[in-house]
Amino acid sequence: MHELPIAAAIVEQAVQAAAAHGATRIETIEVEIGRRRQVVPEALQIAFAATSEGTIAEGARLEIVEIEMEAVCRVCGHRFKPEIDLYLCPRCEQADVRIVAGDDMILKSITAQTPEESASQEPRPA
Ligand SMILES: [Zn+2]
Repeated sequence: MHELPIAAAIVEQAVQAAAAHGATRIETIEVEIGRRRQVVPEALQIAFAATSEGTIAEGARLEIVEIEMEAVCRVCGHRFKPEIDLYLCPRCEQADVRIVAGDDMILKSITAQTPEESASQEPRPA
């Protein structure tokens, strides 16, 4: 499955970032994934559930935001949204383009629980 290494990278980055803040459990992970990665969100959810097992990210909610691809033509400077594997500038029909968006997997945000926070959320005696 193509999504497994991506899920593994998400889990690794999220766990590292959360652990750096002393978090004990990750609740939500928000990722942006460029369309060029051709990720199937449902498959990524399944891969994420499998790779996060046994880590502090286990059971976390994965929010996937898909980013449209954008390219800039190096010849005429036209900015357009290319189809996957069709990188022809629609204005000058040159294939000399630079992908400026939609090519990355970016960890946008993590919501995690730290021991202090979970302690303060416990009901206090009246
Ligand atoms: Zn062009």
